[in-house]
Amino acid sequence: MAKKIPMRMCVSCRERFAKKELIRVVATPDGQTVIDPTGRLPGRGAYVCHDPECMKKALDRQQFDKGLKKSVDAESIRPELLKLQEEPEKRGSGPDGADAGKPKKAEEGK
Ligand SMILES: [Zn+2]
Repeated sequence: MAKKIPMRMCVSCRERFAKKELIRVVATPDGQTVIDPTGRLPGRGAYVCHDPECMKKALDRQQFDKGLKKSVDAESIRPELLKLQEEPEKRGSGPDGADAGKPKKAEEGK
């Protein structure tokens, strides 16, 4: 059995994604609202997906307010959020790659 993947909903498109596919925005205990790339900050979180449209909508329509149950100053998180959006698909940049050790399937019937 595979491990259960925690799913979260994008505040904008309301689609569900694996938690790590989303960007977490956190209302910290000291009253700030911050982007939490690590997903580890304490506080109530709301999530948005990497779709630029979703980010804009979430900011423009104050959709984080609902998720965080407080009034969010969208402008304070907008620059940082949009920075994350611009990140090109540079998935190969980590220490090396995913498809190194794929076992070959032998499909010979005797
Ligand atoms: Zn979305």
